[in-house]
Amino acid sequence: MAQSAESPRVPLEGLRSIRAQPKAIDFLRHALSSGRLSTALLFEGPDGVGKERCARALAQCTVCLSPREDGDACGRCATCRAVDHNTYVDLMTLARDVNVLTQEPQSGSDAKSEITVDKVRELQRERLIYMPHGSARWIIVRDAHDLNASASNSLLKTLEEPPANTHFALITHRPSELLVTVRSRCQRVRFAPLPTEDVLAILHEHKVPEAVAADAAKFAEGSAGRALAMADPELMASRKSWLDRLLAALRAARPGAIVDVAESFSKFAEGQDGDEVPVVLTMLERYFRDEALANVTDARKAMVFAARSQLVRQTITSLDQNLKAQMAIESLLVRLRDAR
Ligand SMILES: [Zn+2]
Repeated sequence: MAQSAESPRVPLEGLRSIRAQPKAIDFLRHALSSGRLSTALLFEGPDGVGKERCARALAQCTVCLSPREDGDACGRCATCRAVDHNTYVDLMTLARDVNVLTQEPQSGSDAKSEITVDKVRELQRERLIYMPHGSARWIIVRDAHDLNASASNSLLKTLEEPPANTHFALITHRPSELLVTVRSRCQRVRFAPLPTEDVLAILHEHKVPEAVAADAAKFAEGSAGRALAMADPELMASRKSWLDRLLAALRAARPGAIVDVAESFSKFAEGQDGDEVPVVLTMLERYFRDEALANVTDARKAMVFAARSQLVRQTITSLDQNLKAQMAIESLLVRLRDAR
């Protein structure tokens, strides 16, 4: 997820700067030191927990000009810094909204809804046929689940017979959507949701004001990316007010209250840049989950709240499948109201 423009950069200095992913980091350190790092890696786990940052840290380790004794990158040499600043010539991002040759972000009609085979072929034809300039080359496939079938098959050939000194890191929070053949070709590295204290620490590093950091961390479900995207004081206030209005509509006796709030909320969400619907629904889910815990001594109440939280979760998942937001919210609210 994108972080806000004014958010300061936190420098990347090798694998030691990846927070709270001990299993993934131990695995990668061992693979590096034993010379058994696969040329095709699949980084899977929730969105916004540091997968792509970790791929870059790993890339630093393979190109660093003065690596540390423990094998980690120095983080300070020219190549380490170039990797961090995304200017290293042998580190390329393959993504649905990045021009593969210029590495410039694409937007509007230039950005496709998936990674197409043309992009993969362009990468193969214009870049991968040449030798890397330095000791290693990295291709980061961002949101690898965006690869369509023909792009996957084309990439698969390269994964099976990679050019010299070339590593691929496929990044995904939806591993099940990748072709089985691609998945099985890769060494899988699993990433976990971050503990809340680490999300808070990351927000602190990014100079997010304390008042909004606590809320953002609470609702981010262990995703620093999501927390950073949420950490806008004004937006946070408006989300809280939408949460209150959704809850009020559930309690309202007036017929039409649900339809009204579903309509005005989806209109508001459409006018925003980010994905406000899933963000506010995640807050709603969290609200019901907290209520279920708070009412643990009243089994019936606790069950109703747990069932409601599950209904919200299902709706969030169905939103990913492009269900129309207003309809989805309306139908969710009706089911929530009826869940007694
Ligand atoms: Zn270095």
